[in-house]
Amino acid sequence: MTDRKKLVAGNWKMNGLRASLTEVRAMVQGASAIPSVDLVVCPPATIASSVGELLKGSPIGLGGQDCHAAISGAFTGEVSAEMWADLGARYVILGHSERRTMQGETDVSVASKAAAAFRAGLTPIICVGESLPERDSGETLTVVRGQLAGSIPAAAGSMPTIIAYEPVWAIGTGRTPTLAQVAEVHQAMVEALTARFGAAAGNIRLLYGGSVKPENAPELMQTAGVDGALVGGASLKAADFLKIASACA
Ligand code: PEP
Repeated sequence: MTDRKKLVAGNWKMNGLRASLTEVRAMVQGASAIPSVDLVVCPPATIASSVGELLKGSPIGLGGQDCHAAISGAFTGEVSAEMWADLGARYVILGHSERRTMQGETDVSVASKAAAAFRAGLTPIICVGESLPERDSGETLTVVRGQLAGSIPAAAGSMPTIIAYEPVWAIGTGRTPTLAQVAEVHQAMVEALTARFGAAAGNIRLLYGGSVKPENAPELMQTAGVDGALVGGASLKAADFLKIASACA
């Protein structure tokens, strides 16, 4: 356990229609009972404005699921960090494994998006994590250290930054690493960040993500070095999201 305030972020991915706003209302209602945990909801861009209106004045922050590195321009379909900030967002998820795999994002592109997030005043939630073949061949720590080195810009030493360790094989599969495996990777991340940023590394919150559910949240969230969770599927239902957050309290 660390002394840093824990944070639970919900990644809705490509899920959520206007009907889902009822879940956001329920999250807002429940959040005041968990003041010791920071909460973030990252809805799809289509309902982000409506979600942002509901979150206004609540303790729950709004986040985007990605951003473009440029401020504006001819980038059809893209959303800039400045646009997210203009909407009232305070966070943006970057380098999620689904984007690394399906959109071909690299450490270099993730680092430039993180720099854009800083430029716009957003806190990036930068995702790293190994694939199953990498885990099976004993490369986990090497992969994670490499992603940290490549995806995190130098400014992370002085700007609010969050890292999410998300083993690719645990995302949406119902499988989770052992608590010892989570602790091992989080310890390696602390060491790598401290080597690079010195004492400032202590300000970087380290989330675990990958099949976090109300049932496994109590043990995962109390694991050494874990400052909260990045939650996919279980963040779509207010009751589950709030139970996970309560496990951090
Ligand atoms: C995620 O997509 O970041 C994630 C952790 O998903 P899930 O909780 O559904 O595994």
